[in-house]
Amino acid sequence: MAGIGALSGTRTASGAVSGAGIRLENLTKRYAGSPGPAVDNVTMDIRPGEVVVLVGPSGCGKSTLLKMINRLIEPTSGRIQIGEEDVTGIDPVKLRRKVGYSIQTSGLFPHMTVAQNIALVPKMIGWSKGRVSSRVEEMLDLVGLDPGEFHGRYPRQLSGGQQQRVGVARALAADPPVLLMDEPFGAVDPITRDHLQDELIRLQHELHKTIVFVTHDFDEAIKLGDRIAVLRERSLIAQFDTPEAILTNPADDFVSGFVGAGAALKRLNLTRVRDVGIVDFPTAAVDDPLQEIFDLLRSGTTNEVLLLDRHRRPYKWLRRGDLTLAKGTLARAGTLVHDTVTRDATLRDALEAVLTDNAGRVAVTGRRGEYIGVVDMETLMNNVHELLEEDRLEAMQHRHELAEARARRTRQAQEGLGGAGGSLA
Ligand code: ADP
Repeated sequence: MAGIGALSGTRTASGAVSGAGIRLENLTKRYAGSPGPAVDNVTMDIRPGEVVVLVGPSGCGKSTLLKMINRLIEPTSGRIQIGEEDVTGIDPVKLRRKVGYSIQTSGLFPHMTVAQNIALVPKMIGWSKGRVSSRVEEMLDLVGLDPGEFHGRYPRQLSGGQQQRVGVARALAADPPVLLMDEPFGAVDPITRDHLQDELIRLQHELHKTIVFVTHDFDEAIKLGDRIAVLRERSLIAQFDTPEAILTNPADDFVSGFVGAGAALKRLNLTRVRDVGIVDFPTAAVDDPLQEIFDLLRSGTTNEVLLLDRHRRPYKWLRRGDLTLAKGTLARAGTLVHDTVTRDATLRDALEAVLTDNAGRVAVTGRRGEYIGVVDMETLMNNVHELLEEDRLEAMQHRHELAEARARRTRQAQEGLGGAGGSLA
């Protein structure tokens, strides 16, 4: 099939394998002993490199649909194509090497170290020892875990969020074009979940895999999906479209029920910190001579600096007044930075951080937590107003189009009647 990409995927500039398209055709699953199908004749096209989120109520068949893509569950009927290849009949073990898979409980083997877990598939497909071990380091680095620190640990020695990161590293280790994720962040606390979601977005910017992601959380779907498939019972597709389109134009009552109240506020989940004005803030380093920091604060250009630690990570906010109390050391001066956001954080995350900060701003950090800039309340409020205004205009435009279409239909009906009258005359 043209334009769907080879199963082996194409390569990004960095040499990694990027996504292959997926076509599901009339896919049905009947479990033995169940009266009706769990998945009923589903057809769906997923483009190379896109993140598609399957969202729907519990029991609607999301997991079953997902697991048929790598044939962890064998379809009763229908066809699955990945890239150019019909994979419905191929050896499922071979297929799973091409399709990374990550699940809620991270699925790590408890008796294996982090490195052994990540090395599993590359080893299985016969990569050399050297290639496997450098890949393990690369993957740990990719998911934001220090290889030196985590390499030899066992899963039980990791937090839930770290286990999830290792799970993702393992799923990506053999560089598959397709990644399937089954509620991967369902079991971690909300803050960790936010961070893991941000990380996934960042990873995807680099990797351009084709990702199919299952969740029952619509906010998560909005945040992560290029497109969202809202599923009803038996995985029937109620709407398959971009988050914007679903929020502004839900297809029916089922979808609007799922979208829920506060659609305008949910729009905050659609905009990233990288899309708003990140501004530079006066900074100083902990190792800078105290006198320099004094001079900076006395220069009159600023009455506050952001103190960075030795890794250039935001550490403390220092105001001019704090220095009079400093007495030759910064140890007790200033206010510790309690929260930061990444460029991939949503405006909602940023707003939350800003609202809990006394001075109404939050530092933005890069991949290793290093300082990038700051966003403040004013920037965020301006963006929120713009978003809401856009929504309002879009809704008005939509109503206008509906009214025009109605008027056109009425006119056509009248002309039709007129024409009929004419011919009678
Ligand atoms: P979801 O992921 O949306 O919660 P599932 O795909 O897990 O839904 O399940 C869809 C339906 O299929 C449910 O009614 C569930 O009870 C049923 N089901 C799932 N797995 C099996 C199985 N192995 N045997 C029989 N029925 C199953």
